[in-house]
Amino acid sequence: MIKSDKKPEPQDVEKFRHEFPMLGNADAPVYFDNAATTLKPECVIKAVEDYYYHFCANINRGLYESSLLATKKYESARTAAAAFIGALPEEIVFTPNTTYAINMVAASLPVLVGDRCRKKILIPFSEHHSNMIPWMNLERRGFYTEFIRVDQAGRIDLNDFYDRLDRTTAIVASSIVSNVSGVINPVVVMAEAAGECGALFLADAAQAAAHVDINVKKLGVDFLALSGHKIYAPPGSGILYGKTGLLEKMEPIVWGGGTVSSVRQDGFEPAAVPKKLEPGTPDIPAFSGLEAALGFVSDIGFDYQQYEKSLLEYCVYEMAKIPGLKIPGFVEEGTSFFNERSAIIPFTLKGWDCSELPVVLDKQAKIAIRSGFHCAQPFTCSLSPEGVHRVSFAPYNTKKEIDLFIGILAELAEL
Ligand code: PLP
Repeated sequence: MIKSDKKPEPQDVEKFRHEFPMLGNADAPVYFDNAATTLKPECVIKAVEDYYYHFCANINRGLYESSLLATKKYESARTAAAAFIGALPEEIVFTPNTTYAINMVAASLPVLVGDRCRKKILIPFSEHHSNMIPWMNLERRGFYTEFIRVDQAGRIDLNDFYDRLDRTTAIVASSIVSNVSGVINPVVVMAEAAGECGALFLADAAQAAAHVDINVKKLGVDFLALSGHKIYAPPGSGILYGKTGLLEKMEPIVWGGGTVSSVRQDGFEPAAVPKKLEPGTPDIPAFSGLEAALGFVSDIGFDYQQYEKSLLEYCVYEMAKIPGLKIPGFVEEGTSFFNERSAIIPFTLKGWDCSELPVVLDKQAKIAIRSGFHCAQPFTCSLSPEGVHRVSFAPYNTKKEIDLFIGILAELAEL
């Protein structure tokens, strides 16, 4: 993986923007909803198109040229995905998205955790529903979920985590980056503590993949899930990483073609992993797009993480000047607010609720933001019972776009 540490210059950002056809349209939005999904660069669109134009066929079945090519591309996407997160290709299961990947691990939890005394599931209070409901739903199978405390800024209370973690814990499941607060969670220390206690650790990297470096070995996690669509790839291209021994123990949620190596009337033999866990025909072109997207990220010619941080700081300080605007956890300059935080800003604006502000911003200046509970209702409600607005950046965003946004917010605050 080639990642540049070159200081971002305005011309680098302009060049990067040009890679995204949607931003070249006359009616291009100011797209500040990157936490929901990112825009797609030309190379990804082209990779998807190539499949339909040149090798449209099913994988793993045909012995003719286009099918062999489709299979080869699908497997090279797996190799690229593995390299991107520091894993081996056989540790990568392709899934439709993060939600599906987490559900797969949850459904197999009873077989993954041999010890019948381990019934506790620990998740931070700030988690996305996709890393909450699959675990809560295991109550029917004798497990129970406990929530790790977080503060108003969304930072995990590690003391509370250590207090709750014990030999009855089956799994700890935490996002690397919160989709509401943008806080980067201390996954390395949590995973280490979980391991020492004999518990499994799953990292939800949906929100992290496009913004922080991910290496499953350095993180020390047992499982990791991510969605391609949040890292410039098409929807339908998700990844579940699992340590090989653990993937082998898992059962597919859905059985059928692809999951078996032989079938008789009186039974069947499951295929080896990862095939056993990939039922039916996948979204083949989406995974071609995923490979292109991961290559694209590795080749971004400037330090995009530093650039995103500069957008975050600029926007937060400008927002803080607006009367009636509140950013949970942000007190004043000189605080540690920006430490360990990705390019997401939650906020409320007095007099402008979640059903109004995004509509007005869209109408006035085609600014796309997201407002509401962000599929993390318990935490978001604790910040503001009616929900919060959220802006989230990608390296194609600019300070000029932020100035436009701030100008409108300032006018709205006056009304
Ligand atoms: N986890 C986090 C932290 C997310 O932000 C999201 C989506 O916003 C998800 C999980 C679910 O992702 P998907 O809808 O792609 O399955």
